[in-house]
Amino acid sequence: MPQFLSPPLASKAGTLKVIIVVRHSGGPNQTDISLDAQERTAREYISANWGGPVEYILISSRVSGEWLNRDELQQLQDHISTRRFDVVIADEGSRIIRDVALYAICGLCKDNDTRLIAPNDNIDTAQDGWELLTLFAGFRGGQENSKTSERLKSRCDQRFIEKGMIGSTPRWLIKPMGVKTDQGCSWDADAIPVILELVSKLESSGNASAVADWLNSDGVDPWDVHPERERDVRRGNRPWDAGTVLQFARNPMLAGRRFRGKKRTEKRYSTGRRIAVTNPDPTDVKWREVPHLALITRERQDALIAKLSFQNANRRRKGSGCGDPRRNVPRKRTVWPGQAMTCSVCRRPYHYGANGTKLSLGCRGYQDYKCWNPALALGPVARRNLLTAVSTVLDGLQGWPEEIMRNLAEIADAQQQGRRDEIQRLESELCRVSSEVENYTKAIGQGMSLDLVREALQSADVRRRDLQANLGRLRAAPVISAELPRIDEIRALAREVIATANSDGGLDDVIRVMVGKIVVYPIRQVGTDLIRGIGEFTLDLTTLVPSLREVKELEAVLKIPIKVDLFNRPQQAVFAAEVARLRGERFRYRAIAKRVGITMQAARNAYQMWLEIQNCGASDPYVPVDAAPDYGRYSRHHHERYRFERRVEPTT
Ligand SMILES: [Zn+2]
Repeated sequence: MPQFLSPPLASKAGTLKVIIVVRHSGGPNQTDISLDAQERTAREYISANWGGPVEYILISSRVSGEWLNRDELQQLQDHISTRRFDVVIADEGSRIIRDVALYAICGLCKDNDTRLIAPNDNIDTAQDGWELLTLFAGFRGGQENSKTSERLKSRCDQRFIEKGMIGSTPRWLIKPMGVKTDQGCSWDADAIPVILELVSKLESSGNASAVADWLNSDGVDPWDVHPERERDVRRGNRPWDAGTVLQFARNPMLAGRRFRGKKRTEKRYSTGRRIAVTNPDPTDVKWREVPHLALITRERQDALIAKLSFQNANRRRKGSGCGDPRRNVPRKRTVWPGQAMTCSVCRRPYHYGANGTKLSLGCRGYQDYKCWNPALALGPVARRNLLTAVSTVLDGLQGWPEEIMRNLAEIADAQQQGRRDEIQRLESELCRVSSEVENYTKAIGQGMSLDLVREALQSADVRRRDLQANLGRLRAAPVISAELPRIDEIRALAREVIATANSDGGLDDVIRVMVGKIVVYPIRQVGTDLIRGIGEFTLDLTTLVPSLREVKELEAVLKIPIKVDLFNRPQQAVFAAEVARLRGERFRYRAIAKRVGITMQAARNAYQMWLEIQNCGASDPYVPVDAAPDYGRYSRHHHERYRFERRVEPTT
């Protein structure tokens, strides 16, 4: 370790401010002792080269160094960008990141007048040649990971083939403690009849959900009766579902064969993570015979798998023959209004693919037998109706109310005063927290053990940074001027958003924020069993002009509640009132049809509907549905799997 660093360490403000970065990969053989050792080495290095006061910040993580989107890495970058720190130190570059991205971190340090030192890699951004050393260290870090991974894989492959290593144990396979190969394993004797029944039930009906229900019913699964047998099963005692039943039935172990390597890991360079993908090379899959575990013949299992695949062929993701159409698309991204609609009954989100139809939006709870709301919405129709409704509301926007215009000066004053008070409160709080931090630091300087106050110091420091950020935000927040933006301007902005949404389905972020959550209520068409959905939401125009958000008086004008049909109303529903009025004036159907511009039959239907509305004492062709419908084809709530369950809101 060099005693005299050249150039020597320098501080911007008397106290040397140091960030220590420590990391281990969080693997099974890694302990936090190594983190402590890394921290100690860094501290020794600094004190060997600096005689003055020092302030340390520790950034420690327990994940792979290849991950580029770690919180700790972001935190490090944020710290560096503040320019408050003098030194970033880690014993080797790979503690910060195992990738050539290390070069960018060093560059960030250079830009922000912060020195990065990694003694074991000879990296020191204050010395010449750091670029090459950094790139090389980052590259080597990535290579080491790949090579280790390859080595481990081939060793495991060898053990699997030659020594009969066990990969996983499916449910009901008993692996006594200490047993390392399949020779010592056997199926649970009580479970064998259940397995054979499972296979024959699937062979006869192909209905995996029904088989799962059967397995979940009392007294069927012998594993439930002997909980001590769970010891070797990692997944615990989850109830069966269609997926796990099919997975079990397809397991080649039932026919006496074990495999290894159907999946393999692949690095995603954008995030640095390795994810499991299906091995594209089927010849790479290793097979081993375990005849003593065979319960059915291979021919029988192959026939079962073929039958199931054939039966479920139309349920798979359909593409244009170029593989999975949703490959590499984030699973959670869908086209608006997907993800924006929630069920009014159970509060679960509406999702695409309800009812097995790609564009149908339906309640997730309904699909899972936890909600009775059967209202569906066709994605594009709902989208068009919602956008049209927003457009109509925008057309109807009048100018600002007189009263607000008159009192604008007062409103602006009140806003200013409120903000001043808040700034004052935050400032005094910041003062208190800062002196707290200072006291802790002083106590450490006077010999108090850092371990005693580390947590308190860190939490005070976090609070200090939060307060600083809040103050900055508040000071930069826009002020209400004596002149409000004209309503026309807001309208133009909103129109732009709608036009973008219409032209490109992908750019939905702004409309998502402007429209917010759409709650879907089930409604029934009078005289029929048909249940449709109506959406209720609040159009929030303050999202377009953030400066107006803080003025409570403007809320009534800029936050507009809207109700929209999420379906196309049939002609008779649209014209019922109009046709009834004309009938009242003793017009004939032929004349009415001509006037309204519909066919005679449509006019008759409309009148019929109007009569039915009168019969029900309603004012609209659609009436709310308040309880599980016991008519038509809506009988999901009678299914034995059905249990109504409201969604529990996640607490943060
Ligand atoms: Zn629901």
